[in-house]
Amino acid sequence: MPQYIIAVTGYAPKPRPVRRIKEKELAVVKLSAVCILACLPLLSQSSTPIPKSVRFDIGALDKSADPCVDFYQYACGGWLKANPVPSDQARWGRFDELQERNRQTLHEILEEAAKPSANRDAVTQKIGDYYAACMDEKAIDARGLAPVEPDLKRIRDMKDKADLAAVVAHLHRLGVDVMFAFASGQDYKDSNEVIAQADQGGLGMPDRDYYLKDDSKSVELRQKYVAHVQRILELLGEKPEQANLDAAAMMRLETDLAKGSLDLVSRRDPEKQYHRITVKDFEALAPSFSWSQYYSAVGAPKFDSINAVWPDFFKALDEQIRKTSLADWKTYLTWHLIHSEVRMLPAAFLNENFNYFGKTLTGAQEMRPRWKRCVDYTDAELGEALGQKFVEKTFGKLGKANTLAMVQALERALGQDIEKLPWMSAMTKQQAEIKLKAIANKIGYPDKWRDYSSVVIKRDDPLGNDNRADEFEFQRQLNKIGKPLDRTEWGMTPPTVNAYYDPQMNNINFPAGILQPPFYDNDMDDAVNFGAIGMVIGHELTHGFDDQGAQFDAKGNLKDWWTPEDSKEFKSRTACLVNEYSKFSVAPGANINGELTLGENTADNGGLRIALMALEEKLAGKTKPEIGGFTPEQRFFLAYGQIWCENEREEAARLSVQTNPHSPGRYRVNGVVQNMPEFQKAFSCKAGEPMTPPNSCRVW
Ligand SMILES: [Zn+2]
Repeated sequence: MPQYIIAVTGYAPKPRPVRRIKEKELAVVKLSAVCILACLPLLSQSSTPIPKSVRFDIGALDKSADPCVDFYQYACGGWLKANPVPSDQARWGRFDELQERNRQTLHEILEEAAKPSANRDAVTQKIGDYYAACMDEKAIDARGLAPVEPDLKRIRDMKDKADLAAVVAHLHRLGVDVMFAFASGQDYKDSNEVIAQADQGGLGMPDRDYYLKDDSKSVELRQKYVAHVQRILELLGEKPEQANLDAAAMMRLETDLAKGSLDLVSRRDPEKQYHRITVKDFEALAPSFSWSQYYSAVGAPKFDSINAVWPDFFKALDEQIRKTSLADWKTYLTWHLIHSEVRMLPAAFLNENFNYFGKTLTGAQEMRPRWKRCVDYTDAELGEALGQKFVEKTFGKLGKANTLAMVQALERALGQDIEKLPWMSAMTKQQAEIKLKAIANKIGYPDKWRDYSSVVIKRDDPLGNDNRADEFEFQRQLNKIGKPLDRTEWGMTPPTVNAYYDPQMNNINFPAGILQPPFYDNDMDDAVNFGAIGMVIGHELTHGFDDQGAQFDAKGNLKDWWTPEDSKEFKSRTACLVNEYSKFSVAPGANINGELTLGENTADNGGLRIALMALEEKLAGKTKPEIGGFTPEQRFFLAYGQIWCENEREEAARLSVQTNPHSPGRYRVNGVVQNMPEFQKAFSCKAGEPMTPPNSCRVW
């Protein structure tokens, strides 16, 4: 499914195969940042003071840099120098600062909730006991592998390959990513219909390309991965020689699954991900797997058709089921089980997992403190219970109203932008306006909170808590098959510092977590707020019209509403962006993938433009005083630049260009301002300077 978040998080915010955010994903999640909203009152009401560095600050500039040569350095240079990457992080930016502040608020909530008391309400008991169980490392170490032993035994006890279906179903219910992914999703051609969906999956490394690329870095990462798998097997009691053979066999199996998987750039094309077929035809793709046994063990409602996202993958899977020995499948399932559950397992496993997925893949030097991880796990497992308490503590009604007013200003600006576009015909414009008017706005948090009352949370069973929460979520997703679509549901939890556009819902979503400085600051002038949260709103709106979003209509259906000429012109304009961003480099031999990042780059370019239009509308007829020596337009661009200030380790930068659809902060800033004559005017840049290149791009 398409992803349209504003900043990275490495995983789709919504209809997705249910997967817990695991350590490896957290590392990726950390990479990025935000998006949206604006909200004032948060500030004054939150108990955690806002560090100065979180706010827009002209002290963070590097005035020795020339804004027309490297605007990112000019806007962020002071901040970059003062904020090296902490040893437990892979990247450190403004989004992370704010997320860290939200985490502190959640920490206060959870420490309080964890105090045993007869007076705790049901929500407080769940989040408090989940957190307390997670924090008790001593007890986790003392239990050893006992909590996961029944599941290990289930794998060990398989008699033949016919047993795979039941075991894989059980592991899927626990959130373990093995073999393939199974969930529900909206039908691409009829967004009101929720259908079953089966997708590629089951790889341990971050993406298929990690298995297939020939460069020396990729080869090295593979060798280290195999060594890591071997060490985990040894920790489970295998002899080194056997563990060595088993790790190699697992690598061979995953490599073959990777070969059958669709690459990330192709996965941006919704047409390539839509293959709705009968259940019978689906099962014929992989007849060696006992599908009926799987459906029943996994708890799926009855269904007649399914979206086989990438049918070739299931053919490749079938071949693997036939040719891979049962013993090798057992190794594979065992490693994935441990990897998925590792956060609630003894330190030896956790450290080895971090060694590869943290240190090697992202460059982080040490694990984050336990409390930070347990806060994040509570957010991932019981997000709308914890989010409820977060909202009570931080988010005022005023925040919602102010944000909504800003969203409406941005929608007006996009409407005017579309109207004036020189390259689009009246017919396509009319359709675009219908789509824009149909976009629904969701701000802050859901109207109705998810009910976790059926999830049993015990103070002395951290691994069981995770599993029960995962099963609840997995079942909740499956139960949607064949039921009416719920449009009120959120794909992000309220404390999240991010935002998203959902093309199948045609809505934009701004969690409470992002409606704070530096995105929205009540103490700042309009120029700053429009450059920051205004741009985030503009970014999400533009996603409705990027190269993916533009393929969906006002109702969220995959349907072409473009005239052929306009479509051709649109493609040549987006090709300009592909070309521009492909030239940006993050490390030797690692350039941005202009196709992978096209949607995000389109949204950044369009988003900043309409945010500036909305600001100019607000300032029209007013005097424009300088503040801190800068005009409103200059402050607008500086505020934009500053939300993307970030330092990043080389390992993380390499991981990011391979898997992250967002460009790194430096190019989110310089790549966009280069395309804006308004920027060049604001800073009096001359033709031919680096921020004024001869061939600029413009889509929206
Ligand atoms: Zn985005």
